[in-house]
Amino acid sequence: MLYRAEGIVIRSIDYGEGNKIVTLLTPTMGKQGIVVRGAKKLKSRYGALAQLFTYGDYSYYRNGSLGTLNSGEIIESFQELRQGLEGPAYAAYAAELTDRAINDDEAAAHLFHQLKACQTALAEGKDPQIVARAYEMKVFAAAGYAPMLDECVDCGRRDGPFSFSAAAGGALCRSCRIRDSGALELPEGAWKLLRVFLALDLRRLGVVSVKDSTKQQLRLALRKWMDAHLNVQLKSRSFLDQLEKYGDLLGSAPAVRRPATASEEAPEGTREAPDGPV
Ligand SMILES: [Zn+2]
Repeated sequence: MLYRAEGIVIRSIDYGEGNKIVTLLTPTMGKQGIVVRGAKKLKSRYGALAQLFTYGDYSYYRNGSLGTLNSGEIIESFQELRQGLEGPAYAAYAAELTDRAINDDEAAAHLFHQLKACQTALAEGKDPQIVARAYEMKVFAAAGYAPMLDECVDCGRRDGPFSFSAAAGGALCRSCRIRDSGALELPEGAWKLLRVFLALDLRRLGVVSVKDSTKQQLRLALRKWMDAHLNVQLKSRSFLDQLEKYGDLLGSAPAVRRPATASEEAPEGTREAPDGPV
């Protein structure tokens, strides 16, 4: 049967002589696996459609679980994400996280738009650590593991201060903190950003200025969360860890800024920043 879907390539692996198998995240059919024949050949018309990060319109035949590309067109190549050091590292991480955290046939319209917005934000040169943390939160929510941040997970108390407990499922008040010795103390700025990330539509992510120490705390908190709730080992994560630790020393090239072509869902004028610098 012939199918047609828009999708973003979140995985691309070599397959046989000159072929590739790509995994698409589609808004309508979740993840779709498609064989792109001859994708690795120099003159292949469809080689670019099989590249990681490509957003395209794919038409494919499918009988079992794997499809075979019939034809396709690139909607947006996200070429900027293949240049420099940071862009590819963060985009590869977002793609791999998506692939591992989401089951094959889960409806994925919301996450699809968030991934597209994540790639767009990285391509535009927005702070990749903030984009990555916000996108992680979108993936957690899509996978059914969003933290509870507005009230104590144990007693329901709504006034803080709270500690962040990955094991308990989010906020723990002072009286309940004893339940998790590994709970993190986060400053108010980090709490505020976690709540923003949870509520935010990434298509509306503005330019935020966040202190390095706050970024480190967010990274640690969401890493603990991921380790507690999503049992995934990501290949792209160790490189990213190095980059986030030693990024300055590596002299990472800034991502290329694109002209301000607003996406159709969020025209430039309607984009909102979260509540300003933290
Ligand atoms: Zn409590």
